[in-house]
Amino acid sequence: MTMTVEHTLLTRVPDALLIGGRWRPASDGATLAVRDPATGAVIKEIASASVEDGGAALDAACEAFPSWSETPARVRAEILRKAFDLLMERKEDFALLMSLEMGKTLAEARGEVAYGGEFLRWFSEEAVRAVGRYAPSPEGHGRMIVTQHPVGPCYLITPWNFPLAMATRKIAPALAAGCTVVIKPAELTPLTTLLFARLLEDAGLPPGVVNVITTSHSGAVSEPIIRDPRLRKLSFTGSTPVGVRLLEQAAGGVLRTSMELGGNAPFVVFEDADLDKAVEGAMAAKFRNIGQACTAANRFIVHESVAEEFARRVTHRVAELRVGRGTDEGVEIGPLIDDRAVSKAESLVADAVERGARLRTGGHGIDGPGTFFEPTVVTDVAAGSDILREEIFGPVLAIVPFSTEDEAVAIANDTEYGLVSYVYTESLSRGQRMIERLATGMMGLNMGVVSNAAAPFGGWKMSGLGREGGAEGIHEYLQTKYTLTPSP
Ligand code: NAD
Repeated sequence: MTMTVEHTLLTRVPDALLIGGRWRPASDGATLAVRDPATGAVIKEIASASVEDGGAALDAACEAFPSWSETPARVRAEILRKAFDLLMERKEDFALLMSLEMGKTLAEARGEVAYGGEFLRWFSEEAVRAVGRYAPSPEGHGRMIVTQHPVGPCYLITPWNFPLAMATRKIAPALAAGCTVVIKPAELTPLTTLLFARLLEDAGLPPGVVNVITTSHSGAVSEPIIRDPRLRKLSFTGSTPVGVRLLEQAAGGVLRTSMELGGNAPFVVFEDADLDKAVEGAMAAKFRNIGQACTAANRFIVHESVAEEFARRVTHRVAELRVGRGTDEGVEIGPLIDDRAVSKAESLVADAVERGARLRTGGHGIDGPGTFFEPTVVTDVAAGSDILREEIFGPVLAIVPFSTEDEAVAIANDTEYGLVSYVYTESLSRGQRMIERLATGMMGLNMGVVSNAAAPFGGWKMSGLGREGGAEGIHEYLQTKYTLTPSP
């Protein structure tokens, strides 16, 4: 990858806010610097929105709402479909940009373009199926008509770890439903959303339907938007503590919310598992996105009779992983997003080792430039270790042994989170029992990656509210009206 290709791409990324179809600087001229986590170098300076800009973006979304919500579903669907086609044509640009601003490998970034793009295609197909129903009342005296309506202007907040997919997973169903949006990407990786907004313009999206604000003052800019009575929906993906704070702000206006929050996924390997499949699944569930996924397996709960063999095999694989800049050929593990992420991984491993865990490989940050962490395996992790309670968000695989199925279930469910679980067993009945017993919104049964645009993505307990994707996804942006009419 030559520097010229990177440079040319970066000059094509807008550096302004998109408000009402106009790209403009921040009202106070403020900017924020976006860095490449593999080098620490600033790759682009972009506008940093003020509170006033946030208000202007919401004004624009409100203004565009009446005509967009009345635009025929087929027309909205075709714009989404066109956006999908353009994204596939520009796949390499988006992959490179995500690798530059977030650090993931080009191969993974291409995977995210494919995954993120599917939301555009899926919801272009769902847009025309947001139908209601007509039924006689049970007494026969009336007719009940149930119709679906777009909720109104929405505020979408996305995290840094999947810069494209988290945006398309919200924008596509919102537009399909007839809603207009203000989107605020994470300040660490805002460039992908800016380039995507340009693509939406090219796909023929009318001005004001999607507005983009990038800012280094997320809290101050977001709160007035969330408290504005004209806003009808907040969709947030990010950490649980921030989600809780936003829910408190949303409560005042009884605002519709969707929350995709943190996870602490158990990965259970039973004694009857196919270990080859379990090791393959573990590598994907743990090291995808450098371990920085809400769906990342956080606790490997492995039957004591196979724990050593599983540990030996994964350690062999993990020790071989090639760490480096995501754009470099052959690299499998990029940098963590920042210094704080490196210190967190380091201290979680140190705490586990202090409490008696065995460090099999890795365990330390790698000297800069860039914020890299060694791919790590720790085994025999003791109950009560921080690593079992907190989201690691890094390339650290922690193994806890168990002896009975009940014990495995108890350990797996011993968390306030409930996003996803992974189970490896060759027994059908055991797999079925796990579907019923594990308290998570999603499960991979002999599968290490579950995300799919056609599936309802979302968590139980403190992992969130609502679902993104699937037939469910569009309903987050629709509200129901029931009308009673007399019998004809
Ligand atoms: P974060 O909560 O720090 O930030 C998420 C977004 O919220 C960013 O855009 C950030 O700028 C913004 N934000 C931060 N403080 C805010 C405030 N006070 N008011 C308004 N906006 C604010 O999370 P992150 O570090 O960007 O992302 C990692 C977290 O996201 C992890 O916990 C991960 O599990 C979670 N995540 C969840 C899903 C899911 O679908 N469940 C998907 C990806 C990531």
